[in-house]
Amino acid sequence: MDTEQELDHINRRFQNSDPLDRIQYVSDLYGSKAVFACSFQKEDMVILHMLKSINSKINVFILDTGRLHEETYSFMDMISEEWGINFTVLYPDAESLSDLISRRGINLFYRSKEERHMCCKIRKVDPLRKYLAGKSAWITGIRRSQTGAREDSQAFEWDHANGGLMKVNPIIEWKRETVDSYIQSNKIPVHPLYSMGYMSIGCAPCTRAVSTGEDERAGRWWWESGLKECGIHLRR
Ligand code: SF4
Repeated sequence: MDTEQELDHINRRFQNSDPLDRIQYVSDLYGSKAVFACSFQKEDMVILHMLKSINSKINVFILDTGRLHEETYSFMDMISEEWGINFTVLYPDAESLSDLISRRGINLFYRSKEERHMCCKIRKVDPLRKYLAGKSAWITGIRRSQTGAREDSQAFEWDHANGGLMKVNPIIEWKRETVDSYIQSNKIPVHPLYSMGYMSIGCAPCTRAVSTGEDERAGRWWWESGLKECGIHLRR
């Protein structure tokens, strides 16, 4: 059986399963060779809560781009202390970042999409790929209804773009209301920016609050049109 056939089989097996069953499966199969990318969005807090509930050995990592909101660092500190989680924090390569800033400036992302992607590559994509090398699976909080680019994503995928490993999206079918309902029922803390109108949590200079009726990811790179992705969730 090849990888795609295996993933088809796993997706069929877990088609109508609870996200917790999917997480338990990955945890049992890979243990500490599986990791979870947390940016403290509501979706991530749901998954973090599930990981905690099964005492999983899956490591939780944060991509600290150096441009996160101050509220994100405070929230991370609070969750680390209250939930007893030791987050692994990934940083951009200092030399590459210094070189980029000296050539293009600290706020290069506002000038063009090309320059924005240069920043995302050094601050997010490269540290992620370096960390995922040698891992067997990574878990994310993405959902199909967040954006058109994610609408055909599966619960279990093969991540070619990040070096070839399993990518697991346990709450892929959940709507925003399902996330809110889980958060409320389980009394899960919510990142403070949500109460200021944010619907997605990213880097401070590249994320704004959204208005009623706007798309969930409209606040990300709001000055750009088209695909609202940083490059870590590319399909190929
Ligand atoms: S979201 Fe903005 S600040 Fe963050 S890495 Fe991408 S371009 Fe840079």
